[in-house]
Amino acid sequence: MRRIEIPDPSMVVLIGAAGSGKSTFAAAHFEADEILSSDAYRRMLTGDAADQRASGLAFRRLHEELSRRLARSRLTVVDATNVTPHARRVLVGRARDADLPAVAIVLDLPTEVVHARNRGRVERIVPEDVVDRHLAALRDAIASGRLDAEGFAVVHRFTDGTVLDDLRIVRRRG
Ligand code: GDP
Ligand code: MG
Repeated sequence: MRRIEIPDPSMVVLIGAAGSGKSTFAAAHFEADEILSSDAYRRMLTGDAADQRASGLAFRRLHEELSRRLARSRLTVVDATNVTPHARRVLVGRARDADLPAVAIVLDLPTEVVHARNRGRVERIVPEDVVDRHLAALRDAIASGRLDAEGFAVVHRFTDGTVLDDLRIVRRRG
């Protein structure tokens, strides 16, 4: 059993392609009210989690709520792909503004696993080429070492698909 410690309070950023299992991971390890999900904000705004036209407003709302929560020292999990450096930079800035640590949880799973899981999603299946772009962006950030230099207090990376069965998250009062 792998065991990781997470400071509480902190901002926990899930990072992974569509289909890598971020939302499942979040639901397994965190309380529902601790999770801010870009899909959930899109669904709330338009009735459709896949409506990319709502993305700008969805992320604005997500960030507003994130800042509010962090200012009140509430542990908060950001469930979005976060595969671009820009997305991560903005999030790390929010945690820094609140003087809280940022923790990255990276689901860096094999391509076939991610594609198979994406096909099995209930809510929406993301086009395969989009998933491939997510995977390429994430692997570039890891291979170049950039992800480790973006200001996260710690980067926890998982490379096999059994994380759910094999992980315990322990909160450490920070
Ligand atoms: P997200 O797009 O990154 O949020 O991925 P989801 O959490 O929606 O997971 C995509 C699909 O993979 C869903 O059908 C999940 O049930 C499945 N899945 C996620 N995590 C696991 C896991 O650890 N094991 C298995 N067997 N399936 C998983
Ligand atoms: Mg999801």
